[in-house]
Amino acid sequence: MTPPQSETFTDRPLRFFIPSRDTRGRLVRLDKTLSEILSAHRYPPLVERTLAEALVLTALLGSSLKDAGGQLTLQAQTDEGAIGLLVCDYKDGALRGYAQFDADRIASLPQDATLFALFGKGYLAITFDREKQTAKDSGRYQGIVPLEGSSLADAAQHYFIQSEQLPTLIRVGIDHADGSGGASCVAGGILLQHLPEGEEGRERLQARLDHPHWQHIEALAGSIRDDELTDKSLPLEEIAWRLFHEETEVRIEEGSGLRKGCRCDEAHIRDVISRFPEDERAEMADDAGNIAVNCEFCSKSYPISLDSLNN
Ligand SMILES: [Zn+2]
Repeated sequence: MTPPQSETFTDRPLRFFIPSRDTRGRLVRLDKTLSEILSAHRYPPLVERTLAEALVLTALLGSSLKDAGGQLTLQAQTDEGAIGLLVCDYKDGALRGYAQFDADRIASLPQDATLFALFGKGYLAITFDREKQTAKDSGRYQGIVPLEGSSLADAAQHYFIQSEQLPTLIRVGIDHADGSGGASCVAGGILLQHLPEGEEGRERLQARLDHPHWQHIEALAGSIRDDELTDKSLPLEEIAWRLFHEETEVRIEEGSGLRKGCRCDEAHIRDVISRFPEDERAEMADDAGNIAVNCEFCSKSYPISLDSLNN
């Protein structure tokens, strides 16, 4: 591997491949994109941190989509948690996400609350929507795992190992400061997967997890620190270099830029509202005759006037 250039790759994923170890990986660090998404919501710090972690995971997984128009959705859901629902998605480089939570219960939790304290018994669903290849193909693939482990990253790692039978390592670091100037947050993550090629049939998962190449990569990558993932002055390529510089070859590929993006549109919202019976619409409206609809993903408000619907 050649020493890195100075590019930091913040808000842009870095893909890499280590041919001699059959391992592919991705690094991502969210700064501006994350701040823009979080500042639209103004959630409590604990919810912000959790959403930041989920957005990094979404960026790591979404940036594996090769075809334009593909979408990755990450959803954590539970009936009994302080956070009841958390949804993030990625499409063509655009990230968005929101959370529904019980503010009183969140306020009663310590800032280092465990995944279980936040969600209780819940599940994590990861959905890939790709372009349909054939008429029969829905293009959709979804896997669901329990929300277990110490973090969302743990649960996502569990998803790949259990559902995909793919040796996987995922780490996410979050630097969240709630200062007088408002919250600031930088979060970064790494994902590594072992993809041995040309081996006969489907090996048992345990044999794959025990593969010496994978164990070697896991040991190297396990040394990464959270503050390296979140240090804005440390180029992602430098992280790959620090971890894997002794490997004979590491192929680096820069992904396309990430940004805050939403796909809500007024025409669709008007269409949904117009399907309600007139008396229900009247009940939804405020004294001025407007129905206020907020997009949960981006917090954008769409005031729809009853008059404009009745005409
Ligand atoms: Zn929106």
